[in-house]
Amino acid sequence: EKNIKLAENNTHLQSLARTDPLTELPNHRALLTMLKQELERAQRYSRSCALLFLDIDHFKALNDSYGHAAGDTVLREFASLLSSTIRSVDSVGRWGGEEFVVILPEATPEEALVIAEGIRKAVSFHAFEISGGMHLTCSIGVASYPDHARDQDALMTAADQAMYGAKRLGRNQVRALNDPAVTALFDEAAEGGREESALRGTVEALITLVEERDISLRHHTQQVAGLVRDLSLAMEMSVEEVQVVALAGLLHDIGKVAIPDAILQKPGPLTEEEWAQMRRHSVVGAEVIGHIPSIRPLVPVIRAHHERWD
Ligand code: GH3
Ligand code: MG
Ligand code: MG
Repeated sequence: EKNIKLAENNTHLQSLARTDPLTELPNHRALLTMLKQELERAQRYSRSCALLFLDIDHFKALNDSYGHAAGDTVLREFASLLSSTIRSVDSVGRWGGEEFVVILPEATPEEALVIAEGIRKAVSFHAFEISGGMHLTCSIGVASYPDHARDQDALMTAADQAMYGAKRLGRNQVRALNDPAVTALFDEAAEGGREESALRGTVEALITLVEERDISLRHHTQQVAGLVRDLSLAMEMSVEEVQVVALAGLLHDIGKVAIPDAILQKPGPLTEEEWAQMRRHSVVGAEVIGHIPSIRPLVPVIRAHHERWD
């Protein structure tokens, strides 16, 4: 009887060592063990295996605005949303912080993209139970064995890089490592000198400025960027054009930085004078962006974003 008790305790301890206490998902260590097993199996039977690397967008800002406890609630809810979205053969775990990993046994790169896109949609549609229903987004990197990487470390790195690509290209999106836009991003990072990284820093600073102006503006700019990106992809525009349009989506409301809170946050209808001020935001935005030579192609888009096509 004593041996049975000891064995039970031992099993309990082992499961604690594999489980993340907050989300009750497999933890970092358990994920590595599962991935190792899946890759061995994939190799043995010459099958593919895909990996998703997920990172919640702007999670730090959520903690800062609503507190750490609310952040924890979101992480738990995010974890159960993930568990209910994946197929029964897949495994999900918490990699650390607001980062999660999904293992998709036998999924081809194309199938993995479809599953990842399903997760991205489910997350963006979900109303999280804080602050009366809040919307969040996540960025997802996809990498596949054996197409993108031939061992466990390389596969993790590949998925992480693809996720980083998804962040850089505007967040709330799925990117595979072999996505042309991600490839272009890394090529550019490799050869682009100081000038390129200075520009990237400027663009990031401007995006942060718009997003920090007002939390509802953040949701709006992300949505607009996502819609115009999908639209330009559907119109089969080039990768470079799609990037310009998506960036314009993220920055189109930059001029609202100059609109006083009393107008921007006004609950009731605006007066004629307030409307006149509000209407200036497209002009101000175009002027601001016009000062940065390398993103000057955005100027007409931002200037015209409230005009009728005719
Ligand atoms: P990005 O869109 O670039 O991913 O921005 P981000 O704010 O999500 O990224 P960053 O990595 O800067 O922030 C992650 C934050 O997650 C920082 C940390 O305070 C928070 N965090 C990590 N673990 C926990 C946790 O267990 N609970 C809570 N509430 N917050 C956590
Ligand atoms: Mg992170
Ligand atoms: Mg994050």
